[in-house]
Amino acid sequence: MTTEGFRVLDEKSLIEYIKATPSLASELGNEVENLKIKEVGDGNLNFVYIVISPSGSIVIKQAIPYVRCIGESWPLTKERSYFEATALKRQHGLSPKHVPEVYHFDRTMSVIGMQYIEPPHIILRKGLVAGVEYPLLAEHMAEFMANTLFYTSLLYLTTTQHKSAVAEFCANVELCRLTEQVVFSDPYKVSEFNRWTSPYLDSDAEAVRNDKVLKLEVAELKSKFCEKTQALIHGDLHTGSVMVTHESTQVIDPEFAFYGPMGFDVGAFIGNLFLAYFAQDGHADQGNDRKAYKAWIIDTVAETWNLFYKKFTSLWDIHKEGPGEAYLHEIYNDVELWELVKQKYMVDLFRDSLGFAAAKMIRRIVGVAHVEDFESITDPVKRADCERRALDFAKNLMKKRRTLNTITDVISTAL
Ligand code: ADP
Ligand code: MG
Ligand code: MG
Repeated sequence: MTTEGFRVLDEKSLIEYIKATPSLASELGNEVENLKIKEVGDGNLNFVYIVISPSGSIVIKQAIPYVRCIGESWPLTKERSYFEATALKRQHGLSPKHVPEVYHFDRTMSVIGMQYIEPPHIILRKGLVAGVEYPLLAEHMAEFMANTLFYTSLLYLTTTQHKSAVAEFCANVELCRLTEQVVFSDPYKVSEFNRWTSPYLDSDAEAVRNDKVLKLEVAELKSKFCEKTQALIHGDLHTGSVMVTHESTQVIDPEFAFYGPMGFDVGAFIGNLFLAYFAQDGHADQGNDRKAYKAWIIDTVAETWNLFYKKFTSLWDIHKEGPGEAYLHEIYNDVELWELVKQKYMVDLFRDSLGFAAAKMIRRIVGVAHVEDFESITDPVKRADCERRALDFAKNLMKKRRTLNTITDVISTAL
């Protein structure tokens, strides 16, 4: 890892940096004298600056060699920036309407310059807490996931292309290890990092640590996460990594990207929609019981999966005689067999997604990093009630996923 030449930018040194970087200055119309700069990083890890000139705007994201919200006591390689920039470029190429463009990348400084996703875009999680409906969300997320996952898998790539891409992203090991720890390990053991709404959920957290069946399931999911190099996944596709308006959906923050199981992305998104769903009762008040909004979230879960299924399998049909080496045309050129192949692949992917959705939900309730959906419920008794229902649903989902065939089956267990 290069540390020489690295320095943490502040607003003042950022201006000098931009002036010295033609690809950034030109996005600002070369008007770099009176820049408006604002640091907006609300994430756990990095610094994010919005930079506006009279004739242009950019976002600058800098990774630092530790976890921002914890400090230097939790080191984390700044090389994550390289994987974020590489994934952003690849995903923008595959889904240009839903991923910001990268203007500049500096590996030594771990600086990415990218398109500013302008207001009224907000972070989806905030919209879900506020109770705002996004009619195109499912369609857009299905499109993003179908394109980025299909085109980076062996359904489209040769094994030679795929292996070289897998090898490159293997080096994002530190970020993968962070996920292994906070998603698949810590919630199932005593860890100094875990927290929950105590004392209300003390026995629920203990029950997670003592649940043998759950531990068998999470071991299987962890092994899939570590071993299944199915496609280039975003790796952190929760509702805080999506910015939205009624018309537009933008996916940001793929610093956890690597070749992993597709279900980890699909599950992250769906699991976080379910977290939003279970939090709604805590946001209900006399003016709004949130019932209609809960129904919209559930419809969005169903539509996301159903549209993803449709788009993904139709890309596969279009490219069935393409370069992909997983199912060679000479062998699978039979209508009945082709349908069986797709069905099997999609059922496996569906059940992986449900398992990962459950794991992502559990960790947000009894692990280190919690979500605003629940954290913004100020009454701890109410919050614990919502969290317990989400936790029970997730545990059940993880254990029963092999018996579930359709998204309607899943939803009926949540209602
Ligand atoms: P982290 O990796 O630290 O979580 P993010 O990439 O999620 O950082 O960015 C943190 C916040 O900065 C986002 O929640 C969003 O509000 C803002 N942000 C990040 N990228 C952009 C962008 N391209 N346009 C507008 N806002 C952005
Ligand atoms: Mg983020
Ligand atoms: Mg991030």
